[in-house]
Amino acid sequence: MHMKAIVDCNSFYCSCERLFLPHLDKKPVVVLSNNDGCIISRSDEAKAFGVEMAGPYFLAKPLIEKHDVATFSSNYNLYGDLSWRVMETLRMLVGKENVEVYSVDEAFLNLDEFGTGNLEEAGFRIRETVELWTGIKVSVGVAPTKVLSKVANHLAKKNKLATQCVVVLDTKEKIAKALQDTPVGEVWGVGRQYAQKLVEMNAVFTAYDLTKKQKNGHIKT
Ligand SMILES: [Mg+2]
Repeated sequence: MHMKAIVDCNSFYCSCERLFLPHLDKKPVVVLSNNDGCIISRSDEAKAFGVEMAGPYFLAKPLIEKHDVATFSSNYNLYGDLSWRVMETLRMLVGKENVEVYSVDEAFLNLDEFGTGNLEEAGFRIRETVELWTGIKVSVGVAPTKVLSKVANHLAKKNKLATQCVVVLDTKEKIAKALQDTPVGEVWGVGRQYAQKLVEMNAVFTAYDLTKKQKNGHIKT
C-alpha cells in the first residue's frame, strides 16, 4: 500500500508568535488579518473560550478582553521564514522529492520508503524532529490517499492528548472507523454549503455515509 502523510502545523501563526514569547505557552492567543479585521489563527485555549475562526475582531473583542487573550497583528515575514524551516526539516527527513508543500503550514509527504510496519514510529519521529528543530508543533495524519490523510490529521488534532498528534489509518477497519467519526463537513473538498445540504437530506452526516452514497451512485463528487 502506498502511504501518504500530511503534516499540518498546529495553530501555525499563533505558534510562530509564541516561539519568541514562551510565557504565552498554554495561554490563549489569536492572530489577526491585515488591518486587524478578522481572526485568522487561534490557539487551543482561545478556541476553548469560544473565539470563532475567521470571525470579525470587533465581535470577538469582548470575549478576548474578558479572558485576557494575547492578540497579535499578522507578521507574514516571520510566518514565511518559519514555514521554510518546517519544510526544510521535512525535506531532510524524507527527501525533497517526497515533500509537496500544500500551504504555508501544510505539506504532503510520500512515505513509501517507510514500508507499512513503522508508520506510527515514522509519524512520531517527524512530529518530534520538526518540534525539536523549529519549535513548531505539528500534527501528522498517515493514510493511503491524500483525502484520507487529511481525515487522519483532523482526528489527530481533535484528540491531541489521546493521539499525541499522530494518527495512522493503515487498515480497512481503521479507515471505516475514522470516516464514521468524521462529520461530512470536515472532508477535504466538501464545502460548507454542500455539507449543510447533505445533512439536510437526512442521509449523510459523516464521511462514512458519503462513501456509501458514492458507491451506490447516489452522489457524484
Ligand atoms: Mg494548520
